[in-house]
Amino acid sequence: MPSYAHKKAFLYRNPDELEEIVSILIKNGHVINPATHLSDIKDILISEGKIEKIADSIDGDYETIDATGKIVSPGFIDLHVHLREPGFEVKETIESGTKAAVAGGVTTVVCMPNTKPAIHDVETVKFIQKKAKEAGYARVEIAGAITKDISGQEQAPIDELIDAGIISVSDDGRTTPILDMMKEAFRKIKRKKLCLMAHTEDEALAKHGCMNEGERSRQLGLIGIPNAAESNIVKRDIELCHETDSRLHVCHVSTKESMEHIIKGKSEGKSVTVEICPHHFILTDDIVEADDAYSKVNPPIRAEKDRDFMIECIKEGHIDCIVTDHAPHEDATKKVPYEKAAFGICGIETSFALSYTYLVKAGHITLEKLVDLMSYSPGKIIGVDRGNIAEGHVADLTIIDLNQSYEIDSNKFYSKGKNTPFNGYTVNGVIEHTLVNGKVVFRR
Ligand SMILES: [Zn+2]
Ligand SMILES: [Zn+2]
Repeated sequence: MPSYAHKKAFLYRNPDELEEIVSILIKNGHVINPATHLSDIKDILISEGKIEKIADSIDGDYETIDATGKIVSPGFIDLHVHLREPGFEVKETIESGTKAAVAGGVTTVVCMPNTKPAIHDVETVKFIQKKAKEAGYARVEIAGAITKDISGQEQAPIDELIDAGIISVSDDGRTTPILDMMKEAFRKIKRKKLCLMAHTEDEALAKHGCMNEGERSRQLGLIGIPNAAESNIVKRDIELCHETDSRLHVCHVSTKESMEHIIKGKSEGKSVTVEICPHHFILTDDIVEADDAYSKVNPPIRAEKDRDFMIECIKEGHIDCIVTDHAPHEDATKKVPYEKAAFGICGIETSFALSYTYLVKAGHITLEKLVDLMSYSPGKIIGVDRGNIAEGHVADLTIIDLNQSYEIDSNKFYSKGKNTPFNGYTVNGVIEHTLVNGKVVFRR
């Protein structure tokens, strides 16, 4: 089996400084572009950060990438990423997290506000924007906090945060308990047509559980988190969104009951979208072992019936995008007893390969559909004009070799986090090149 990690990846720092490379020609790749229903062998000429031309054959004296036998996809857009900076730089930094992103083919991330300080003031928004620009890997969009310190107690200055450039609000990590604060947030984001990204967890029902409530939690003697802890709040938030005529985006869905509320809400014309993480459509709680907290995540990995229903929902088009909820942690908070360990899975470098292997190769959806779920569709949710390989559009691209397989080994991640339950899984789909704004920021 060829192992991708034996070849040293080649990363350019700071693509903005590579002014000497003004044009790049990508030859002979299979271009998949859901926005224009393109799936064909094409050449792509990139000039000054934009896609200048797409044609059957383009020749000329350009820096050339031979994409023969490879897929050329819009760069992936991951709406749910914890970059951890400021405050938790031991887990991840904006630089290490965006480097990991481009290694996973992700060209835009939305970073979540549960940093320290939380992203609840303009200074922190500006700090992240500056750090992201200095790092120069993936583009970083920001979800600002709904409440100060994600405490659920005092409203954050949402109008100011919007003016500073956030693209969404969220108290991710917790559910905002006070209804009036949620309604106020829904009303404020309407002004700029943003969405509210909701972490849906009824803390009274979750009762500090550490895994899914079911047969396996009883076997292990661990406190379980019932499905209703999620679905009750999903139902609540759909109602609040409808009442305020605003937009709701449900984070990391994991249960059948939640999806039933969402499907009903969508069928009634309510403005709700939903994301899912690979661990929720691949794994079941049978894999949980009390001495290995790499599988501990919130919401937890659920039962088989939920996992199977998630796959049906993806097939039926009820799910709008695939995200990672990339949540890196240092081993000091993970290599401890399950009930004491931190929640979170480090997933941004494995998301495409896992999704390709378990959704496309497994025969559930087409490659075109997967590319849509990871690029064009999430781009539409946050209203950015990316995820579209068309002339005149920004050149954020990912080149993938689907024929190569490799074994996941988190010791080789660019992320500081090594916490994944997928170590040892054999997957297909190697990210070969990632381009942001027409510059190569990652090369395998
Ligand atoms: Zn969350
Ligand atoms: Zn999260």
